[in-house]
Amino acid sequence: MALTRKQKQAIYERDGWTCSICGKRVDREAKAPAPLSPSIDHRLARSKRGGDDPANLACAHLACNIDKREHEDIGKVRRLRRRRGLDLPAPPLRGKDGQRLT
Ligand SMILES: [Zn+2]
Repeated sequence: MALTRKQKQAIYERDGWTCSICGKRVDREAKAPAPLSPSIDHRLARSKRGGDDPANLACAHLACNIDKREHEDIGKVRRLRRRRGLDLPAPPLRGKDGQRLT
């Protein structure tokens, strides 16, 4: 079952628009395939019987989410980011109305 836009919004809000993988802010105005756009991370992958229960879902950058899917190990993704200096740039600060502040 795919998540609705509303369900995803609720997860992003709950997690404070912060990536659960790298700990940085996601850009709430960015749309996929922008690397900093928000996406839903399944803590336990669907392929490992992780479901769409909110407790199994977390906000993550699209780029981090894809890396995690590829490596199946958050620790490894974080180490790769550090070693290769692939730290993602911080997204622009935005006010509540989506206006850029920086
Ligand atoms: Zn991230």
